[in-house]
Amino acid sequence: MTTASHHRRRVGAVRPSHLMFTSGVGALVDLPNFSVLVRGLDEWSEQGSVLDPISEPRLLAAVQALPGKRAVERLLPAPWRDGIDADPKGPASTVGVPVAPFPAWLRCTACDELAPVTGPQFTFENDRPRRPHDARFFHGECGKSRRKPLAVAARFVLSCVRGHIDDFPYTRFVHGGGSCPKGSKAPRLRMEDRGGNLGANVEIRCVSCGASRNIRQALGRRKQPNLPRCRARHAHLNWFDPAGCPEDPQVLVVGASNQWFAQTLSALAVPKTGAGVLATKVEQHWTALEGLPRQMLPYARANVGALKEFALWSDDELWAAIEAHQATADEPAAEGYPDLRTAEWEIFTSPHQPEPDPDFTLSRPGVPPALRGLVDDVVQAERLREVRALIGFTRLDAPDPDDPELVTPAPLAKGNPDWVPATEVRGEGIFLRLPADLLADWAHRVAGSDALAAHQQAYARFRQNRYSDRIKGPFDPMQNWPGIRYIALHTLSHLLIRTISLECGYSSASLTERIYAGNEDDPRAGILIYTAVPDAEGTLGGLVSLAEQHDLTRLFRRALRDARHCSSDPLCAERLPAHPADFLHGAACHVCLFVSETTCERGNRFLDRRFVVPIDRPELALYPDQP
Ligand SMILES: [Zn+2]
Ligand SMILES: [Zn+2]
Ligand SMILES: [Zn+2]
Ligand SMILES: [Zn+2]
Ligand SMILES: [Zn+2]
Repeated sequence: MTTASHHRRRVGAVRPSHLMFTSGVGALVDLPNFSVLVRGLDEWSEQGSVLDPISEPRLLAAVQALPGKRAVERLLPAPWRDGIDADPKGPASTVGVPVAPFPAWLRCTACDELAPVTGPQFTFENDRPRRPHDARFFHGECGKSRRKPLAVAARFVLSCVRGHIDDFPYTRFVHGGGSCPKGSKAPRLRMEDRGGNLGANVEIRCVSCGASRNIRQALGRRKQPNLPRCRARHAHLNWFDPAGCPEDPQVLVVGASNQWFAQTLSALAVPKTGAGVLATKVEQHWTALEGLPRQMLPYARANVGALKEFALWSDDELWAAIEAHQATADEPAAEGYPDLRTAEWEIFTSPHQPEPDPDFTLSRPGVPPALRGLVDDVVQAERLREVRALIGFTRLDAPDPDDPELVTPAPLAKGNPDWVPATEVRGEGIFLRLPADLLADWAHRVAGSDALAAHQQAYARFRQNRYSDRIKGPFDPMQNWPGIRYIALHTLSHLLIRTISLECGYSSASLTERIYAGNEDDPRAGILIYTAVPDAEGTLGGLVSLAEQHDLTRLFRRALRDARHCSSDPLCAERLPAHPADFLHGAACHVCLFVSETTCERGNRFLDRRFVVPIDRPELALYPDQP
């Protein structure tokens, strides 16, 4: 990471994958001695251009279909070069994600002086290139200490649900919304942390006039009148949105988990169902092939590195595939939020196994006899490649994966950049398809149940509470309700993930799920559990081997047996969402069902053991009997 103050200086190292999932453009990153905000893509661009784009046409097309993303032409990895440990002053040290110190107010740890980072009080020191984490600010002329005491970030900022973030207006706040009666525009301030364990107890004091005010008077929704209107500032872009902002800002503390949520799209690199390897490769390398005249083909094949992959095919075969692809590329793209799952579901359930490929290889070990009727198909995904693109971020509220426009995402750049950051992960996985008639019979059985009604009502409350005031026009509280099948499949997925990590020593955080759940008209019922450990080459066969008949039987039996009890029972077993609460799970908790944030595709919502195994009422269970 580099800061853009004066000239670029390295202030720390973060793996690129980390920059995608836990912090990325617009995120506040806590460094040991201060905190920084990851700058927008305008600042990345000069560095980004040195990197090879990640090829994933299906994902790129999906990104382009989003509002404001038409100009995106490339998915680029975060700027990163290996070798910083071996050679701290070498080429790797000049490559990084640009950041700027934020919040832009610092507090002296010795005398409590509170002042902007740009003021004369504080000096930046970063003289040890081998230890970028030692970068720090200090108070040069401190009245309390001669030993250049450390200055740290004053940790309060303002944010709103439109993703704006701004410095806390300390000077105005301490003077009750006005200016200092002593006339100074920038009066000297102190920030005194009174400690105690009743939340924040931080006193702001003006040295010039003696006014003082506790930060508690700005915390909480009811205290919002004590704060100014949102200034529509996107600090990561160094920009105030000229359209302004109608939202009330809230105080956010640096380090709070709701300061930044990634909005990402991900796709598995899957061949089109029934398409041969050649057609798939043509699609992958379309940027290199598009517009190439027929007579240039032999020359391009001899000289363009990426085209070496076509060595197995003649010029005529390749040309025919290019023409076939051109015909489909000319078809108009579908409108609306992209569906990236259908192509995946189709290939996992296709009776024609795709030809093995370094990005996608499947095999079928067969359904174990003990699980017949419970599972219809078992697929080992020996090789998978997942590409994930960062398309925006939100603050205060996480984006809804199925209804991304409910939460207003903040922009990644001032303009419309021609790229978005992306990561690429290779791994392996297990895909299970459940029998369509089993799901249909069960869905029919639970259709009129109180338990299902409780989940649906909670969903409506959840949406009403969060979003109803943000929707213009009619508000349908049940829009994008994932459905009861989703809850059952999702719960089964968590049960299997937890059993796999218990039995096999995987950290459950290294596994990820994808749920393919349909409804009455759409018989999809599948689960993919796969490794998504960035920067590692998957787990090399460990996970797929668990889909062998003997292991899968054992795992499945244990998962279903364990699901019947939780050490928090009867509290957990009896739980159903009820008015006025709007949480979205039933019999589920940290002890029995929750998994890490990176593993779950729905933030541990839509989970309930009673829909999978008998807990209180056996007729609700998808699997009433233990196999
Ligand atoms: Zn000081
Ligand atoms: Zn004052
Ligand atoms: Zn705002
Ligand atoms: Zn539980
Ligand atoms: Zn989940």
